[in-house]
Amino acid sequence: MSGRFSLYVHIPYCQAKCSYCDFNSYAATTWPEDAYADALLAELRHRVAEPPFAAAGVATIFFGGGTPSLFRPRTIERLLTGIAATCPVAADAEITLEANPGTVERARLADFRRAGIRRLSFGIQSFHSDLLATLGRLHGPDDARAAIDAARVAGFDDLNLDLIFAVPGETRTQWEADVAEIVRFRPEHVSAYNLTYEPGTPFHTLRARGALAPLGDEDELWMYQHARRALAAAGYAHYEISNFAQPGHEARHNRSYWRGVDYLGLGAGAHSYAHLPAWGRRWSNERIPERYIAAAGRGDPTASAETLTFDTAAAEFVVLGLREMRGIEPAAFAARFGRPLEEIHPEIAALRADGLLVERAGRLALSERGLLLADSIFTRLV
Ligand code: SF4
Repeated sequence: MSGRFSLYVHIPYCQAKCSYCDFNSYAATTWPEDAYADALLAELRHRVAEPPFAAAGVATIFFGGGTPSLFRPRTIERLLTGIAATCPVAADAEITLEANPGTVERARLADFRRAGIRRLSFGIQSFHSDLLATLGRLHGPDDARAAIDAARVAGFDDLNLDLIFAVPGETRTQWEADVAEIVRFRPEHVSAYNLTYEPGTPFHTLRARGALAPLGDEDELWMYQHARRALAAAGYAHYEISNFAQPGHEARHNRSYWRGVDYLGLGAGAHSYAHLPAWGRRWSNERIPERYIAAAGRGDPTASAETLTFDTAAAEFVVLGLREMRGIEPAAFAARFGRPLEEIHPEIAALRADGLLVERAGRLALSERGLLLADSIFTRLV
């Protein structure tokens, strides 16, 4: 095995499209599950024939979407078996499935576990029915509670629960209650996302028309800080802008994105990254599932590809690395790019002088104030 990579498997189907969602996902009542799984495995065989994935081992597998839990456990099992037959999967691989509380039931969760899934990630978002309705989610608070309990009964000891804050109409009291309830479930990992209004979504259109009032900046900030305080008090380390984990339960798959590890994305619209040749390359697949299935069957579903320049790669190293609270290591930057960090990114000196970046244990990281201004800092660095 020479090197390791992360494998992402995109399942693009959902029961309904949520109002804020800009993922490559499609509302459907039926889907060509077997043909889609065939296409995923065909694409994998195609990709691993070439470096850097040839002869490399799989460190993590993440079934994301869309709603992967809509697929039958036996399809997931077939995919995992097909992956293991095509490339070596590390014995301790993190293998995650995203699930929506409304689409799962006890028996199914146990079957996913038997199929080889080791970690579940639930899109809880909120325990308030009015906020779930605003978001366009199909599940209710009790579905979420039952799903979490069912996951534990099924034997899952590695759970991520996603929450969204700053939903239109959300009060600080509601957010406090959501964080408190999440903590009571003691998941190993929590993601707390600030709602964003992405172009092309109904939320974006409604906001532009004035039909949806976003929460004010002060409330957003308060909610973020509250999550940080409450989760820290409950023993969760804040290790990335939106992510919190009990010791040893940081999401290894997502971490590989922030650390520039090679990742291979299979499926409709999936993105991939390889650090070679030169400064690296990225590509993405056909987005429409039917077109993806046809293209993968013909051999190569790539829709667009980009060779990274020195400047792009150097900016990504910094911006992705600063997402983690531990920050970046200037020596590692110099080793990869052949020149000192601050010579290539002179803006860093100003950010340090402004107190937005700080040095900690030989690494450069966002300061407490920098964390709250992360987006604007990243804009200055690219
Ligand atoms: S369930 Fe997830 S992927 Fe599907 S529409 Fe909703 S937010 Fe998007």
